Amino acid sequence: MTVGRFAPSPSGRMHLGNVFAALLAWCSVRNVGGTLLLRLEDLDPDRCKPVYGDQIKRDLEWLGLDWDREAQPQSQRGEVYRSYLDRLEALGLLYPCYCTRDQLLAPSAPHRSDGRRIYPGTCRDLTPAQRAAMTKAPALRLRVPDRTYTVHDGLQGDYSENLEADCGDFIVCRADGVCAYQLAVVVDDGLSGVTQVVRGRDLLDSTPRQQYLQELLGFPIPETCHVPLLITPEGRRISKRERDLDLGVLQSRMSPEILIGALAHTAGLLDRPRPITPRELAADFSWSRVRREDQIAPFLT
Ligand code: GLU
Repeated sequence: MTVGRFAPSPSGRMHLGNVFAALLAWCSVRNVGGTLLLRLEDLDPDRCKPVYGDQIKRDLEWLGLDWDREAQPQSQRGEVYRSYLDRLEALGLLYPCYCTRDQLLAPSAPHRSDGRRIYPGTCRDLTPAQRAAMTKAPALRLRVPDRTYTVHDGLQGDYSENLEADCGDFIVCRADGVCAYQLAVVVDDGLSGVTQVVRGRDLLDSTPRQQYLQELLGFPIPETCHVPLLITPEGRRISKRERDLDLGVLQSRMSPEILIGALAHTAGLLDRPRPITPRELAADFSWSRVRREDQIAPFLT
């Protein structure tokens, strides 16, 4: 039985890129008669607000993308995440990290050719005396092994990362006590029996870290499909700057069927944009017809 999910962060109105990922997640699950879960990823108290969560639900309903179960929002699950942090602690894999943002982002800090930072292990082996002398609250980092994890992505193909060389030890709990995305997503997907993760391609490089956590915590590894990002003609990822792509604006200009048809065409599922319901689209959905490269967003004026 396929269990998929929508996992939006309620930090604003959905933009077209979120709708695109949600549509493909929905079609993939509905095509095989599976179950869809909606989970609001509202871990960040500074960015997320309940009104945005309500808006996302209304927008999904307007689009015709329904769900079967709603998970408890992540902001209410601190104790659950704490129990998994305790397990990682018991494995001897956590340590406090006192590095500041400035230190981590310094131009001299190690990074990969694509710009992603690699944690150099600054706080890995501090002595108890050094830790005791620190005055700031620490984040918690998870030690990673010198091991390569390979993701067999349903859309992007194989993606491999050696966690030590390409990533370094990563944060599982922020200095303010909020559980980090990587751990929360693994615990929530694991406990709710998610078997298929469909999300933006920008999260492909999180997947090896998530596989490592799944292995440590005894959760099965779900199938993943990382979908293209929607970009501007200049190649920049669309954002709130593209006001025409705000769902509120789009709703005032067109029916959900026109919007779905345009996104289906962008995905490679229709040979021309035409009005269609999600249900019609799901009936003959196949990942083999979905494009894997980033796509220029429709409706850009
Ligand atoms: N909450 C994330 C987002 O809105 C998605 C995380 C995931 O699908 O794993 O981008």
